[in-house]
Amino acid sequence: MKKITIIGPCYNESENIDEYLNRVIETLEKLKLDYQIVLVDDGSEDATWNKILENSKKNINIHGIKFTRNFGHQSAIMAGINFADSEYVFFSDVDLQDPPELLEQMFEKITQSKLDAVFGKRSKNKENFFKKYSSIFFYKFFNVISNTKISEQTSDFILINQKVLKELKKIKDKDIFLRGLIPWFGFNIGYVNFQREKRKKGNSGWSISKMLEFSLTALLSFSNFPMRLSFILSLISIISFITLTFFALFSYISMDVVKGWTSLFLVISFFNTIIFFVLGIMAEYVGRIYLNSKDKPLYVVDQISKVDEN
Ligand code: UDP
Ligand code: MG
Repeated sequence: MKKITIIGPCYNESENIDEYLNRVIETLEKLKLDYQIVLVDDGSEDATWNKILENSKKNINIHGIKFTRNFGHQSAIMAGINFADSEYVFFSDVDLQDPPELLEQMFEKITQSKLDAVFGKRSKNKENFFKKYSSIFFYKFFNVISNTKISEQTSDFILINQKVLKELKKIKDKDIFLRGLIPWFGFNIGYVNFQREKRKKGNSGWSISKMLEFSLTALLSFSNFPMRLSFILSLISIISFITLTFFALFSYISMDVVKGWTSLFLVISFFNTIIFFVLGIMAEYVGRIYLNSKDKPLYVVDQISKVDEN
């Protein structure tokens, strides 16, 4: 019997845990899968941990991991990933905005189409105006500046197989952006559409500052465009310096300019150009140090002829 690990990140979800578990277990029973459920309490301030303990006492397949404080959604999922040791792993929000029943279609898709990961994709998003449009804007911007493309309207509602799990366990990077990392690996990905409902119980654990921090993490760790920007700007400043030099000399010869203006103008723009250029070069080095410090794998192997482990 194939085994699946379900990872549920929980931040103040005491009101949702029971219904989440009922719906997940019902789906798993339909799929006839051997399972373990890992609920990660990410520093909740309500009765989340008691609820998890209560459920894990009732069902030996339910496990709980409690963080000392709030480390964030991505860290909570990573804790589950490090715990998981199964053929498949599924992560979804415990607030039930990601309907657990979709696992059925996602599982069918991953097995029948021989995929490595299947993402739930929002065909309709009933979130509020700000959440909906900030997310659309973020994905568009991300896809413009990053080489890794992520499908718009996806989130961390994902089913992965053992191959992806193995790669995720190897990741030492502290800036985790799972929905970017999985496409970055380059495995075969599929999508299943669903309607995202509003949160029914409890409040969103994502404050605006957490969302900003998360977007910056994603943009900076998947794109070297911001660093490249300072180098591009330094090249633009060299071109402007050359043009302005012609302008200054032309003005000196043909117009009546104030004495000393030309030399002052040239000295200032020359040194400014040098400063920009040096900053541009430094940004390239700092950027590379940053990217290397992430310790991302150099490559990801899909298959090896003859000695294929799978
Ligand atoms: N979550 C978490 N840590 C946090 C914030 C959220 O583990 O710091 C969990 C939360 O319990 C839920 C999932 O991540 O299961 C998605 O969060 P939420 O529903 O609050 O975000 P939204 O749907 O509003 O984007
Ligand atoms: Mg939610």
